[in-house]
Amino acid sequence: MDRGLFIGSAFIAGRSGKRIQCIDPATGEPFDSVPAGNAADVDAAVSAARKAFDSGWKRTSGAERAKVLREISKGINANRDGLAALETRDNGKPLAESYIDVDTIAQIYEMYAGLAEGLDAKGEEAVDLPGEAMKSTVAYRPIGVVGMITPWNFPLEQFTWKVAPAIAAGCCAVVKPSEFTSLSSLELARIIADAGLPAGVLNVVTGTGPEAGEALVRHPGIDKISFTGSTATGKHIMRIAAEDLKRVSLELGGKNPVIVFDDVDIDPAVEWVAFGAFVNQGQVCTATSRLLIHDTIADRFLKRLTEVAEAIRIGSGNAEGVKMGPLVSQAQYDKVMSYIEAGRKAGATLLTGGARPAGFDKGYFVAPTIFSDVADDMTIWTDEIFGPVLSVMRFKDEAEAIRRANDTPYGLAATVLSKDEARAERVADALDAGITWQNCNNMVVIQAPWGGVKKSGMGRELGRWGLESFLEPKQKTRWLPGGGLGWYEVPAAAGG
Ligand code: NAD
Repeated sequence: MDRGLFIGSAFIAGRSGKRIQCIDPATGEPFDSVPAGNAADVDAAVSAARKAFDSGWKRTSGAERAKVLREISKGINANRDGLAALETRDNGKPLAESYIDVDTIAQIYEMYAGLAEGLDAKGEEAVDLPGEAMKSTVAYRPIGVVGMITPWNFPLEQFTWKVAPAIAAGCCAVVKPSEFTSLSSLELARIIADAGLPAGVLNVVTGTGPEAGEALVRHPGIDKISFTGSTATGKHIMRIAAEDLKRVSLELGGKNPVIVFDDVDIDPAVEWVAFGAFVNQGQVCTATSRLLIHDTIADRFLKRLTEVAEAIRIGSGNAEGVKMGPLVSQAQYDKVMSYIEAGRKAGATLLTGGARPAGFDKGYFVAPTIFSDVADDMTIWTDEIFGPVLSVMRFKDEAEAIRRANDTPYGLAATVLSKDEARAERVADALDAGITWQNCNNMVVIQAPWGGVKKSGMGRELGRWGLESFLEPKQKTRWLPGGGLGWYEVPAAAGG
């Protein structure tokens, strides 16, 4: 298929003429391609977005934007099968999980329709002032044209977490999806255009990070960059954005702990731990890839966890009943295998996995991998691997568990499993993370704020926090006739 860049509601060829191959991660074979967008393409997309913003989109009511958002949601439901199949082909994830992603994004557009209407209902917010001389209100204005850069692990979700609230806020967008998984973003752009979004409000420029991505970050016509990806790229983007003080929000990496106390029921706790480590092949920013297990139950727990990991059905995302597919790319496969090798060399004990699963001689498959006897300074404990690798450490008491859990530069998510609800609450409060889960794991609550502390980023997505990240509060202060001079000096005194 000859896919193009999506600029001003039309699919057009990239100016460079170069294309990026789309590889099926289950086979390693190319099956499609997208344009390698360049700085000139980015410039055209930003111009289209600016034109749409200034010519009227910024003045639309929340109700008008809500109408389009609801149509988008309907369009996604109508294209459910096609979107899910495309996501699985391009990313490798099990088809059942692609369906969950598609259904979730339909709900997100619907949720932001309600929040857009809420903006109308809220109107301007009154500010409490001492004295009678003035009246101040706050109007919420769309930030403007936003550059959005997304990763490859949840392409449809990451696109939507940014685009839906931006539309709700009255912003225009230029999205640069990951070069590894651009297809579903282009398909979703088509569905969004068909749903009636005016031309130029949404644009998608495919291409590599250093070329198309960086051109977007550097473009003077961009008011804000909303980025999701690795901490290293996030830092680089923030440095560039500082040049002309662009707003930035950054959803970055994590090395998230799951703490399991000795009062849990072993079987459900094992399921939550396995889910947090291996869902989406471990390619999840909130993957709980560090297990802290109470030492009195550690042997029993790890035996059961190993059995569960070994029973996970692996295969092409399209195969029936598959729970784990391949990793997204050869590069990601090589990276994960090099961490596994480093863990072995450093002396950790490999309980299971550590290699390609038997019977898979092509594609980027890695068996669920568990290391115990892990030390604080091993890279499998300190670094975000972004693959199905779980590192385990034992602890003796609550204070030690909290200390070890927090001993990381990251602060995205953290999980605690304990039947003692007061303890679970206490530990969750003590964990330095933007998201905590008690007696569950890796639940995405679309109405609640999502984002990290420390080196996991800044800003929040989802819920009303996602909407607020695309709004700028504007102070409007009026001097009231006959309101007196309030607490100011009389002008004669001021004039000397
Ligand atoms: P990445 O940083 O390599 O790439 C992310 C995006 O940035 C891609 O679109 C890429 O093309 C672009 N990019 C790369 N270099 C760039 C540059 N110089 N200028 C502008 N753009 C550039 O990350 P990835 O490997 O695609 O994704 C995995 C990372 O994403 C992990 O660290 C993961 O934790 C993180 N992530 C975080 C969240 C969250 O919500 N916090 C969600 C999903 C993924």
